[in-house]
Amino acid sequence: MNDVCICLFASAGFDKAVQGLAGAGRRLANDLGGLLRAVILGTRSDELASAIASVADTVILADQAEIAEYQPETYLNALARLCGDLSPRAVLFANDTYSQEIAPRLAYRLGGSAAGDAVEMRVDGDSLSAGRQVYGGKAQAVIELKRRPAVVWLRARSFAPAAPLPEAGKITRAALEVQADTRTRIVERKREQGGEARLEEARVIVSGGRGIGGPEPFETELKPLADLLGAQMGASRAACDAGWVPPTWQVGQTGKKVTPDLYLAIAITGASQHMAGISEAKIITAINTDPDAPIFKHCRFGIIEDYRKVVPLLREKLTGLQK
Ligand SMILES: Cc1cc2nc3c(=O)[nH]c(=O)nc-3n(C[C@H](O)[C@H](O)[C@H](O)COP(=O)(O)OP(=O)(O)OC[C@H]3O[C@@H](n4cnc5c(N)ncnc54)[C@H](O)[C@@H]3O)c2cc1C
Repeated sequence: MNDVCICLFASAGFDKAVQGLAGAGRRLANDLGGLLRAVILGTRSDELASAIASVADTVILADQAEIAEYQPETYLNALARLCGDLSPRAVLFANDTYSQEIAPRLAYRLGGSAAGDAVEMRVDGDSLSAGRQVYGGKAQAVIELKRRPAVVWLRARSFAPAAPLPEAGKITRAALEVQADTRTRIVERKREQGGEARLEEARVIVSGGRGIGGPEPFETELKPLADLLGAQMGASRAACDAGWVPPTWQVGQTGKKVTPDLYLAIAITGASQHMAGISEAKIITAINTDPDAPIFKHCRFGIIEDYRKVVPLLREKLTGLQK
């Protein structure tokens, strides 16, 4: 079968990431000559199902009580059953933490192949491959996915949305017998601090590094600047590892890959591992006291100065512009 399955979680909205996922799925399905099928796991998914039906040929809801809430092993079992039955050529995920946790395991369960953080999907005859950026975005690695199905999770905002179909796709409920996982148990859920969850989708990011000097200036200096810019907050690994800000703020090779229009790197040196997360930022602006900091080789605008002098001036200017 040459169908493409996109996997969604009911907790997601029909946001840019999901629209991009559907867009990537539709183009791949067209290239393969198959259908685009959407699978949604979790309860309270009706709204998402109607939205996704506007762009997918079929929508399958798996909303049994056992999978009401995300639980990795149970979701994996359900997806393995569903995708096993549908037998698609490719299974695509967005790049959220649930997807990253499940996708490689699903590939293994289905005997398929896996690739992560893809910015491109290519079909060439029988061959299916995924492109991902390497060396901080200076080159692209092309990974051929030889085993079926190809299970791929996509980088946010790298794929255009799908055009609506003339007639909405059919929505059905999966008759699944889901085995709830007895080996692991969710004991507590903590909501991430406001704003940080959608760092991958942010248009403007104010990010701080070790040179910020501690947790307080993130609150007193950077946060007010971010608020004025309508920006999300990010950080280097050094700042996260120091415990100044939550680990979910980390941008980079082992953190989040972001694609904002403006990335403001404040007191961040610009190590290659950090740059790997911002290679698709349209404009990088850096504030750093060290004129030799590597970040200055990558930024469009650079200010060699102590951030404690520059940030208050920026805030003042922005406040003036808002009056
Ligand atoms: C396998 C691996 C994976 C990694 N993954 C990541 C990752 O995902 N993300 C990531 O960020 N890093 C990652 N790192 C770490 C990375 O190599 C760097 O160590 C880290 O990015 C450095 O963070 P930093 O720039 O905040 O700190 P530093 O290197 O300490 O730089 C601080 C900067 O602040 C400047 N500064 C100091 N005071 C001021 C001031 N008052 N005003 C203005 N500027 C000032 C300094 O000149 C300096 O350039 C990884 C490393 C490894 C080995």
